[in-house]
Amino acid sequence: MIKREIAWIERLARQRVHGASERIEEMKRRSDERDDVAGIRILLRTMSLMTVQTERLIKDELWIANNRSDRRVESVALVRNAVVQLEQILGRGFEALVSPPERDFVALVQPYIRLARAVTDNPSTELIFESGEGFGYATWPNVFEEIEQGVVLLAPNLDRAVTALPPLGLVTYPARADHETLMHAVIAHEVAHLSVRRNVGLISDEFERGRPPGDLSDVGRLFEWTQELLCDMLAIRMIGPAFFFGLLEYLLPTHDPHDRWAAEIAQQDEDGEETHPPPAWRLRRLMREVAPFFHPRDNSYVAQGRGVYVSCQKLIPQPLPHTPGSKDAREQQFVESVLAELRKRLGDLAGGAAYPRGRFRRDVPLVWEKLDAAIAPAERVKHRRPRDANRPAESDVSRESDDLHENPPSTAWSEPMDWRSIMNGGYLRYLEHVLGNESAAEADAIRRETNSMVRGSIELSELHRRMIELSNQFDGLSVLQERQASPS
Ligand SMILES: [Zn+2]
Repeated sequence: MIKREIAWIERLARQRVHGASERIEEMKRRSDERDDVAGIRILLRTMSLMTVQTERLIKDELWIANNRSDRRVESVALVRNAVVQLEQILGRGFEALVSPPERDFVALVQPYIRLARAVTDNPSTELIFESGEGFGYATWPNVFEEIEQGVVLLAPNLDRAVTALPPLGLVTYPARADHETLMHAVIAHEVAHLSVRRNVGLISDEFERGRPPGDLSDVGRLFEWTQELLCDMLAIRMIGPAFFFGLLEYLLPTHDPHDRWAAEIAQQDEDGEETHPPPAWRLRRLMREVAPFFHPRDNSYVAQGRGVYVSCQKLIPQPLPHTPGSKDAREQQFVESVLAELRKRLGDLAGGAAYPRGRFRRDVPLVWEKLDAAIAPAERVKHRRPRDANRPAESDVSRESDDLHENPPSTAWSEPMDWRSIMNGGYLRYLEHVLGNESAAEADAIRRETNSMVRGSIELSELHRRMIELSNQFDGLSVLQERQASPS
């Protein structure tokens, strides 16, 4: 290898890396208006850092190649590897950014980010969203995974900085279903993956303790299944029965209830095969998670909701009976026994993201009633006038609102409706209509109307929430100023 060749490699490698940084800048400009911009900024900043490091590595290694003939081959190989590695990392990153969520989905971006923060117990957790062309939901719970692997080669000195990056997840949803706000309840499962990933040690301990049956590939598949089924259970804890209805509507039209299946998006991936157990099993076993939401039946709407749920149950085929002692039977029994143990930890796993059943029972009737009256169920009015006329209600803002809890902040007057209550009330009311005797056209119209009403109400309640939070911040500021003003 002669020096001219090295110079040539240097020029081309620099061009490629320069192209990458230009693309990063362009992505920054494009992403400014996005609702998930915080996560994108972190990702792009990290990508920038990797690019700068690659530039430095090219410079250093090619200097060595030029000056030490014994190290020449090795250094040039390092440069090539570094460029390939960088391009792989950036390629996956850019792919995640080119299709932002579309118009109707945006209402759910902040609520799901909050849920992700609560379930990971980390206020710096971010989610970014991608509208995909395939009809499926998927998650990539750690966007930095490849960067974490690549950093060893590209920039060992950045190792610590990269491990300290905040959790960042990518959620892909079907672009064609942008307006299907109700069905997007299944994203709770994707958010649950963040918690499952974080607690994978605990899960695998429990799994090993149960002594998984089968050979290595069976064990790997059963571990995946355990995680998927656990995410389903967690999703119910986090957003309530809406997840069950969403999953039902998503799976049944296209999946044989008795077949193992791979998530559409993972299908090209060899390892992605049979990532999920048969839908009939998946849905049937969720019924015991959903049922408690509809007890006690002390309210007519909750009772009505229970009726909807019972009708939906009838839509799920019974799982095929396995011959006792058969492979399928043993596998199912094993997974169920692991999940029975993990179920005891569901409360911990859901953490501040749990959706209290009491809130469901309190809110759903109100949401349903308002929807019946064509009023957006965006808030709960608590008092229509201040209790104490001398005291302005605004000063009564609750200060308990904690970032990591999904409890809506409230004022003396009212509080924003929990977005999950809006989803659940909307779903139940819609299903009650379509499971009745409506024609297909009527059912479609109700679906459209419910989706937009639910979406609009979530937007309003989010706005309300943000205003209360801002007012909290202003209050905090003035308290601080008073303190500073008064000599201590
Ligand atoms: Zn999953």
